[in-house]
Amino acid sequence: MSNRVLIIGGGPAGLTAARHVSELGYHATLVEKQAQLGGTPIASHYAALTHGFRDAEGAFRGLINEVTDDDQIDVRLNSTVVGCEGHVGNFRVQVANGTGALGSVTNHTLDAGAIIVATGFQHFDPAGETQIYNYYTYPDVVTLADMELMLKTKNVTRRSNGALPERVCFVQCVGSRDRQIGNEYCSKVCCGVASKQAIEIKQLVPTAKVFIFYIDMRMYGYWENEIYWPAQEKYKVNYIKGIITEVIQKGDKLLVRGEDTTMGRPMEVTMDMVVLSVGMEPSAGTREVAQALNLKQNKYGFIDVPHESLDPTTTHKPGIFVAGAAAGPKDLDDTMSMAGLAALRAMAAVRGPN
Ligand SMILES: Cc1cc2nc3c(=O)[nH]c(=O)nc-3n(C[C@H](O)[C@H](O)[C@H](O)COP(=O)(O)OP(=O)(O)OC[C@H]3O[C@@H](n4cnc5c(N)ncnc54)[C@H](O)[C@@H]3O)c2cc1C
Ligand code: SF4
Repeated sequence: MSNRVLIIGGGPAGLTAARHVSELGYHATLVEKQAQLGGTPIASHYAALTHGFRDAEGAFRGLINEVTDDDQIDVRLNSTVVGCEGHVGNFRVQVANGTGALGSVTNHTLDAGAIIVATGFQHFDPAGETQIYNYYTYPDVVTLADMELMLKTKNVTRRSNGALPERVCFVQCVGSRDRQIGNEYCSKVCCGVASKQAIEIKQLVPTAKVFIFYIDMRMYGYWENEIYWPAQEKYKVNYIKGIITEVIQKGDKLLVRGEDTTMGRPMEVTMDMVVLSVGMEPSAGTREVAQALNLKQNKYGFIDVPHESLDPTTTHKPGIFVAGAAAGPKDLDDTMSMAGLAALRAMAAVRGPN
């Protein structure tokens, strides 16, 4: 029997789960695929986070330090789980570490009483979109993730010519709410993130006109008040209910075509930059871990949670729990809350019945 909790993934969910496990006196092993902790917000260079437009790196630095400085948490970077035997209270897990000489991989075995999967998401690749957005053709068509880096480096300029953009638009629901590609779900965060970025663009380039083309705006909780209304009222961001079907080059501008669904008529507008609000898909690592642990995935590839509303962290396998975006699109509030619950459930599992 082992009372160690294995946490797979060192993003916001995994870090939070590890910290809670340790706070309550248990030992954790945190296995992270990359060479650094912090998850997608750090690896993808997010700029400011909701709430409060806090610098992403600053926001996570404290949590990362707490985890790495904690003697009860064994952090394994450049590592992933490749196999698992046993059952709750007594898992034997094969971990592959990829830092050996010349990139060679070494395998070793870990004992754990419970496992938390926190392997997160990846950004939808616009190549999979059925609309013609030409992300890989025109340098001035970028994604939300690209824009985060531009905002972080305070360099919101056109990639084609280095000029400041006069007109920027966001296209919502790219890779989400789309039956044709099989991603019918809403990615939850992209309406808020696009509105946040629109504000940040206006702060950096006050002369720019910023537009958001949306099917319907889905603001989450306080984001309505903290982002959506200030974007409209203070920063004069233009929200247009419409569906964009095509982005093509016209001279040195981008011609954005679609339908204004309020007016019920076709629309053509020119822009300097187009930002595709790409949604969240299960990360490759989430799919790999599902295979390694023999976990059921839902139809989109996220880890399946059989009783999601009432028991959001319990998977089909006793002793294996899930937290954060590995189980579906999540913002940070939900990710952190879920990680706390997963930690609690994992500790209850290793402790066994009273
Ligand atoms: C553009 C954009 C901006 C956003 N901005 C905000 C915001 O301002 N506010 C907000 O609340 N939310 C925001 N979000 C959502 C936020 O990023 C997620 O809620 C959060 O990252 C989820 O954390 P996570 O730990 O579940 O997953 P991730 O952040 O994806 O972390 C998963 C970690 O697991 C690791 N991993 C993956 N597979 C394996 C494996 N097989 N083995 C070991 N490790 C593995 C990864 O390397 C990564 O470190 C934004 C999302 C997007 C797309
Ligand atoms: S959050 Fe907004 S942009 Fe993202 S999928 Fe949902 S409705 Fe579309």
